[in-house]
Amino acid sequence: MTFTELGLSPKVLAAVDAAGYSSPTPIQEQAIPHVLQRRDVMGIAQTGTGKTAAFVLPMISMSEKGRARARMPRTLILEPTRELAAQVEENFIKYSINHKLNVALLIGGVSFEDQMRKLDRGADVLIATPGRLLDLFERGRILMNGVEILVIDEADRMLDMGFIPDIERIVKMVPFTRQTLFFSATMPPIIEKLADQFLQNPVQVAVAAAASTSETIEQKLVRVPRKDFEKRAVLRGLIDGADNLNNGIIFCNRKRDVATLYNSLQKRDYSVGSLHGDMDQTSRTKTLTGFRDGDIKLLVASDVAARGLDIPDVSHVFNYDVPTHAEDYVHRIGRCGRAGREGWAFTMATNADDKYVKAITDLTGDHIEWTAAESSSSGDAAEERKKPSRRRTKKAPDAVETSNESNETAARNTRRPRAARQTEEESAPVMSAQERAAKLPTSPSSTSSPSPKTSPPKSDDKNKSRRNKKSDNDDDSTPRGLGDHVPAFLLQSTRGLG
Ligand code: AMP
Repeated sequence: MTFTELGLSPKVLAAVDAAGYSSPTPIQEQAIPHVLQRRDVMGIAQTGTGKTAAFVLPMISMSEKGRARARMPRTLILEPTRELAAQVEENFIKYSINHKLNVALLIGGVSFEDQMRKLDRGADVLIATPGRLLDLFERGRILMNGVEILVIDEADRMLDMGFIPDIERIVKMVPFTRQTLFFSATMPPIIEKLADQFLQNPVQVAVAAAASTSETIEQKLVRVPRKDFEKRAVLRGLIDGADNLNNGIIFCNRKRDVATLYNSLQKRDYSVGSLHGDMDQTSRTKTLTGFRDGDIKLLVASDVAARGLDIPDVSHVFNYDVPTHAEDYVHRIGRCGRAGREGWAFTMATNADDKYVKAITDLTGDHIEWTAAESSSSGDAAEERKKPSRRRTKKAPDAVETSNESNETAARNTRRPRAARQTEEESAPVMSAQERAAKLPTSPSSTSSPSPKTSPPKSDDKNKSRRNKKSDNDDDSTPRGLGDHVPAFLLQSTRGLG
């Protein structure tokens, strides 16, 4: 099928052509004709499938008639995270190059001023996270009764992040006669109920099973001890020993681990950035841009980055922690091996994580091999013992590198260039390039004798210290599920709903 057969306007087709797309993706092929017919659509599709264009392209086509009035948007797109909202805006701008449509991005972490100005000018399209949208609504800056099309994107993630009560409020504010497009990567029963509540006689479109992983990703499990500094050493061993490492995302379950890991890697001169929900928008955007441009090779991230990062060629995903929700595993590793490219996903698991590992293999049906990994000897043990007197406060201009850069392995590309390193005031002791090269394994699986394929190598971790469960749960998505709020639809009798 070609784009011309979908019923999009000539101006939109020209933009698609300019974007370099030769044919629609399956979700676009299935959804676009129905959206153009003003049908409600329930789409099961993950990011990476082209689902953004599946709703943005027909939306632009349909917006050609009519004009936005001040404070009365015609289209509202709800996204769970700022990154996703910003990415949808980018897509919107790309596909509307031949139109004069006003877009307003309403996300937290940036000033209200600019957003309010755009609303006052009249926005054809609002792309918003629920909190900021409600905030501006409560300040009287938006009127929702002109909304003709409502998009609820990443519904399952909205649920995870506790946004469903907000979504319910927003849906009540927009006219009943609207067209609703509802997308979710997975469709558990609770999401199906929500779809029933928000959609009228929807067309259902779906691409790929929600729980499937790409065949082009080589997945490995790595047994690790519980102690954080030992885990970090194993991670560095994996990074340094990785073949074909172009860039990678390191996922942590907890925000505070993102910060600790980021600091630890930075001290060791890895080219690293971090991304989590507490960062202000400017830093998040800067980090993402650096990562996209290749200036940052490793991104330490919480699950807020697991979905929707539009980075086509991430080669590696490292799960520093096993995700406690099996679906998050699918989304995390889906950041690599996209569009038929090869990808490598390493998941570090302690003994205590085995139940989560089982949940993942049950969900995906994948057999994931265990591999043994060697800890990097530029270990955190040294860092733990480090005394202030060992810190370098000033570096001699030529002190750090003596090796020939061109002989370094791909893994060493994850370390920052000399100029950047020399500007740092503090640095943990690091191995010289030759020491490191001498220790670098050629591939993670060859680092030591292979473990049996089906059973994990035994960990000798005897650490009995209990972590505070509550403080462990400080990820970006709290409150999970519905938080304290029981939405109205759950209080209804289910009879007659399906
Ligand atoms: P999404 O699933 O919306 O995050 O899109 C993932 C990536 O696919 C983005 O980089 C889009 O620019 C790209 N994309 C969307 N539609 C097409 C298409 N028809 N052909 C090629 N690439 C596409």
